Order: sequence, then C-alpha cells, then structure tokens
Amino acid sequence: MGILEVKDVSKRFGGLKALSDVNLSVAQNTCHAIIGPNGAGKSTLLNCLVGKLIPDTGSVMFDGQSVLGRSPHEINQMGISRVFQTPEIFGDLSVFENMMIPLFARRDGAYRMHAYESVASEKELVSRALQMLEDVNMADKRHMHAASMSRGDKRRLEMAMCLIQEPKLLLLDEPTAGMARADTNNTIDLLRQIKDSRDITIAIIEHDMHVVFSLADRITVLAQGTPLVEDVPERIKGHPKVKEAYLGE
Ligand code: ADP
Ligand code: MG
Repeated sequence: MGILEVKDVSKRFGGLKALSDVNLSVAQNTCHAIIGPNGAGKSTLLNCLVGKLIPDTGSVMFDGQSVLGRSPHEINQMGISRVFQTPEIFGDLSVFENMMIPLFARRDGAYRMHAYESVASEKELVSRALQMLEDVNMADKRHMHAASMSRGDKRRLEMAMCLIQEPKLLLLDEPTAGMARADTNNTIDLLRQIKDSRDITIAIIEHDMHVVFSLADRITVLAQGTPLVEDVPERIKGHPKVKEAYLGE
C-alpha cells in the first residue's frame, strides 16, 4: 500500500475526458514523477488530489483516509502541501514575513492561538522560520521584498513555505517551468536535499527530463488521461510507448 492510492479516477470537462480510470500508487518516502505531453491530464490529476477538483468516479486515499469530499484546507491539514505552477507568494511582504504565513495556518490549527499567546511561542515560530530559510539557503535574503526576487528564488521561497508545514506529501506542478538552467539545477539540489533529509514523499509533474531523471524513483507516463507506463527511470528512457506519446504531441 502506498501513502497515496488513486483508484479508477475519471474526470470529464463537458465532452472532454481529461482523466480515464487513472490508477496510481505512490510509495512512502519516494519521489514519483508524472510526465506526459501537454493536455495529458497531469494538472487535473493533481487538482483531484488536493480537493480543487472532485473526480467523477474513483477513489483517492492518502495515508489510509479518503481525501474525496474534503476541502483543500482539510486536505492540507491531512499533510498534503502543493507547490503551484506559478509561485503563490506574497510579493508585498518580505521573505521572512512570507515564511510566517503558513505557520499561522498550520495543520493542527493550534499555532494561530499559540502565536499570540506568549512571547516564548512567538520566538519559537521566528526561530523555526529562520531555520527553514537556512535549510533552503535563503537566510541572507530574509529582508528582501519577495516580489523583487528571481523566479528561482520565488520558487525556493514557495517550497520553504510548504515545507515549514511539515507535509507528509509534497506535490509539485512543474516546479522548474520557465526557470534558467542555473535555477533549475539549484531546484534539483534543493529537492534532493529535502528528499534525503526528511520523512517526506514527493509527487512531481515535470516537463524537464533532466529534472525527472535526477529525482524520480518511479515515473508514470500519462497520455490522453490514461497512464501508459509506470516504471523505474532506467526503463522509461527509450520506452517505445513513451516515445510514441511524445512524438504524437
Ligand atoms: P496537463 O497538465 O497534462 O497539461 P491538464 O490537466 O491541464 O493537462 O488538462 C487536461 C485536459 O483537460 C486538457 O485538454 C485541458 O484543456 C482540459 N481542461 C483542464 N482543466 C479544464 C477546465 N477547468 N475546464 C475545461 N477543460 C479543462
Ligand atoms: Mg499542467
């Protein structure tokens, strides 16, 4: 049993079948990549996992519990954090202030109370935010205006904002889209470091095969809303079905 079990999930948008009977099992503490041509249904699948969309059929189990019928907030509280295709940070705030936001909306809901309760707990939150910024090598940028950072740094900040919630499952939708090569390589290093140092499962949608092959333990290839192949990276490379799906793009 994986920490995430998707069974026979289908989703229609009017006449378009975006997902058809998708099955996916993500093992705990692994990095599972979902790849496939544009329009394959990758983002739709992710949206079904976080409560932004409700599948027409099928089930989604996370950590032994169904996520279906729960709000995105409740699913976040279950331990799923998501990094969006475009960074969702607060541009008008400093890097440090951005880090404080997820702490006030933490999974158990208790932090909001604690934060205002005492100076000691405020200090604890501040030191946790600083530690997280250290972990992602952004401590020296903590006073920067978030809007003025590079795309790579915005992504890094957004990832830190997810990680400070200590998710069990981190979902990433094309985290390196539009990034320069140097930022992409920094992101790969950061994700490797996260993967190796934490008790965390990562599911990543990614177009850049360099990123996929650098990080993934397993890869699912999605095409036209259906998983074509699922295997270890070495066997996905050069797989005839995969080539076919991409050439048909
Ligand atoms: P991917 O992320 O793999 O590029 P998507 O999941 O975004 O693909 O989209 C899968 C298909 O569903 C596409 O044909 C897309 O146009 C369609 N689609 C996605 N979201 C919606 C929506 N909210 N309404 C109508 N069609 C949608
Ligand atoms: Mg997408």
